[in-house]
Amino acid sequence: MARGRVIKLDRGYPLVKVGQMDPFRCEHSTALVKSERVRSVIGDFVDVALPHGHDNGIILSIEPRSSQFVRRDPAERTSSQVLAANFERVIVVEPAVDLNVKRLERELVLAHEAGVAVSVLLTKADLVSDAAELAAVEQRVRDLAGGSVEVLSMSTERPETVEAVRAWIPEGTLSVLLGKSGVGKSSLVNLLAGKHVMETGSVREGDGKGRHTTVSRAIVPIPGAGDVVDMPGVRGLGLWDADEGIEAAFPDVAAFSSQCRFRDCRHEAEPGCAVRAAVERGELASVRVESYRALKDEVDQMRRKREEARQMRGEKASDQRDSRKGAFRARSRYNRGSARR
Ligand code: GDP
Ligand code: ZN
Repeated sequence: MARGRVIKLDRGYPLVKVGQMDPFRCEHSTALVKSERVRSVIGDFVDVALPHGHDNGIILSIEPRSSQFVRRDPAERTSSQVLAANFERVIVVEPAVDLNVKRLERELVLAHEAGVAVSVLLTKADLVSDAAELAAVEQRVRDLAGGSVEVLSMSTERPETVEAVRAWIPEGTLSVLLGKSGVGKSSLVNLLAGKHVMETGSVREGDGKGRHTTVSRAIVPIPGAGDVVDMPGVRGLGLWDADEGIEAAFPDVAAFSSQCRFRDCRHEAEPGCAVRAAVERGELASVRVESYRALKDEVDQMRRKREEARQMRGEKASDQRDSRKGAFRARSRYNRGSARR
């Protein structure tokens, strides 16, 4: 038996790397399949057996995760899907030109929900008209993301701009790259790796028009630094349980909502609403409150649907998965403001 790490899902099978050996495909042991609902994902640490005469290894157990990236399952809307595990940082990647604020807000929520360090990388800085404009975009993102989130910009035209990104990915850590297809993640990884490790420029993810992923995501080691792994575009990034992620991604709103008279204030018509008062005083932008509310509504709606589905199956309220998540969260708080539940 050996300890390894899932570095890729190879046509659905975990590809596991053990020490310096070539990675090999694995299946989950029958006992594991029967006893646990959890299946291994990219980043999982696993105990594997390599039976003689078999091509495939057998995953005997999956170690508890220090962090995980969860989205709503795009196929089955009342369940969640874990896309990566055991990473130390999420790097949200957005182009510096034509900044899409709504998308950035959603990505920040998903990133914070993982309970790890979060940073934003603005790509394609060369396409911004001048240095002052770039500084303004960076500042706008800093204001929006709050003090706990570092913001950098880079450009493939100036490869030295990638060097600062390395500090986010120290040796022995894994960083998740989160951003829409085409934002320049592969170009970034190639610059970091100092060689061509990922295809660039082509549309690889399914975009609803019949094209499909041809390159599957894998953990990429960066020489002299840690590892990175690419995540799917925001199109597939529906929120799951993300209340804490929302609080952390909206520190400006959260700062006032903690002063509302009602703990569960929706900042709509309730008396004593500190959020609405702050908007009226001009201390908080109303667009931010609208985004916050829309994301909260999405999470609430999912929770209701999930509850309905559960009742249809005749199950009790809090299910096993949610209580597992609670235990997991208690261990993984990191770089997070004083978000109130
Ligand atoms: P990915 O889908 O996020 O992996 O994005 P890619 O790395 O494949 O880049 C998408 C397109 O943007 C490619 O045509 C790249 O050449 C281009 N691109 C990436 N980074 C930059 C940059 O810094 N400046 C400019 N001008 N183009 C870039
Ligand atoms: Zn309120």
